[in-house]
Amino acid sequence: MNMNVMNAPASPPVQDPLDKLFDTMFRPMNAQGVYARTGAYESVVEGLAALISSRREDETEIFRFPPVMSRADLERHGYLKSFPNLIGCVACLEGSEAEIRAAADRHGQGGDWTTSLEPADLVLTPASCYPVYPIAAERGPVPERGYRFDVACDCFRREPSAHLDRLQSFRMREYVRVGTPEQVAAFRESWIVRAKEIADELGLPYTVEQASDPFFGRLGQIMAFSQLEQSLKFELLIPLRGAAAGTACMSFNYHREHFGTTWGLHLADGEPAHTGCVAFGMDRLAVALFATHGATIAGWPPSVRAALRL
Ligand code: AMP
Ligand code: ZN
Repeated sequence: MNMNVMNAPASPPVQDPLDKLFDTMFRPMNAQGVYARTGAYESVVEGLAALISSRREDETEIFRFPPVMSRADLERHGYLKSFPNLIGCVACLEGSEAEIRAAADRHGQGGDWTTSLEPADLVLTPASCYPVYPIAAERGPVPERGYRFDVACDCFRREPSAHLDRLQSFRMREYVRVGTPEQVAAFRESWIVRAKEIADELGLPYTVEQASDPFFGRLGQIMAFSQLEQSLKFELLIPLRGAAAGTACMSFNYHREHFGTTWGLHLADGEPAHTGCVAFGMDRLAVALFATHGATIAGWPPSVRAALRL
């Protein structure tokens, strides 16, 4: 055997420019896209959260959601039509003590305990604004000034990847607007401007581009085309790999009357409310900061550290 090969460094060659930042930001947790976060990384996420909070508009109601939500509500949202491939559903061992014991013991005997799992009434929340629409709808007609919400939660999407900017478990923060089409359009326009200001303050290079969601399958291509045609989605993209296409770190979404109709969320005149949201990918923004400014926070531009209070 060739001893030179034996003595080669154990770590694999760098595949992706972001990989060299792994140890600064993360520790492995034995699953792709699911990582323990270091103190340095988390201090950046906290700084980002405070910066985004400082831009919150008046009369905005705050909610923080758990990482799980009602499966029935996700079904009603139409998620099975749009993104069935991304769903994470909670599954549990149900039944008598004997049945549960028998299933669990199969593991100790080298068998498969998971064959006894039953789907629960819960799914992992895939976007932080989903739980807010039924809450708003319960209140009756939307007041004339509409609603503004500030929401956040840990999100899950089943898209395992070796790339550090594509996680299965990640944090999303959103501002949501509910009201007339004009109110939602004004909200989205103003947030595209504000989001660019935030990116400028953070010293992040970016472009804002029209975008579509990765709708599932062939029918999904038609949905994506229609979304583009109606200019329903824009994204703020940050280049994380030199000249390669940027990574979407924020998105600006107009859902038209989709959630209004789905949840019976009506304006005073009985018309379905329109909704829109601006989503901040907290983990992607943190990764973008390290990728742009380097592994050592102390070496980041003073203005960036000041914006993040680091
Ligand atoms: P979307 O609902 O797809 O527009 O997602 C909102 C934001 O969440 C995106 O702009 C990203 O910043 C972030 N995001 C979406 N998917 C992922 C992922 N797999 N890993 C990390 N962040 C993500
Ligand atoms: Zn949203």
